[in-house]
Amino acid sequence: MQKVLLHACCAVCCAYPVKLLKNEGFEPIVYFYNPNIYPQKEYEIRLYELMEYSRKENFELIIENYTPNDFEEISKGLENEPEKGARCEKCYFLRLDKTAKKAKELNIQNFTTTLSVSPHKIFQKILKTGDLAAENHNVKYLAYDFKKHDGFKITQQIARENSMYKQTYCGCRYSIRPKI
Ligand code: SF4
Repeated sequence: MQKVLLHACCAVCCAYPVKLLKNEGFEPIVYFYNPNIYPQKEYEIRLYELMEYSRKENFELIIENYTPNDFEEISKGLENEPEKGARCEKCYFLRLDKTAKKAKELNIQNFTTTLSVSPHKIFQKILKTGDLAAENHNVKYLAYDFKKHDGFKITQQIARENSMYKQTYCGCRYSIRPKI
C-alpha cells in the first residue's frame, strides 16, 4: 500500500481526509506540525483530540515539537492581514514545506494536507504552496481538495459522531475573534 504523509491541523479536519485516503488505497500517516496554534493550551487540546482519533481509526500519528517561534518569525509584519491573506500564505508554506521535508526524510513519496477541507481556505493557494514545497524536497504533493463532494459536511458529521472538540477560530492569535 502506498503511504502518504498527511499534514493535519486538528482532528475535525483530519476525520474525512483519513477515511477518503484509506478508501483510495493509501496508507495515511498523519503529521501534526502546527506552530501557528495559540495559546499552548489550545494546541494541547487539538493534539489530544487527534491522538484519540488516531487510536480509534488506527492510523500512525507523528507529532512534531511545538515551536511557536517558527510562526512568530514568519508572521512578523503581517499581524493585521485578514484571514486568507499574506500571513495565511506564509503559514501554509511553513507547515507544508516542513511536511514535504519530513516525507523525504521518511522516504514517503507523497504528501498532502487537511487544510483544504475548510471552506475558509482558498484551494488554489494551498495547491501552489504544496507544489512549491514538493519541488523543494523532491516529493509529490497530492492535490486533494478535501472540501469537494461534501467533504466539509462529512468531516463535521464524523466530528459530531465522535464528540470531538471543535475550535471556534483558525489557530493563530490573530484569528481569535473577540466575543460580542
Ligand atoms: S488565520 Fe489560520 S492559516 Fe491564517 S495565519 Fe492564522 S493560523 Fe495560519
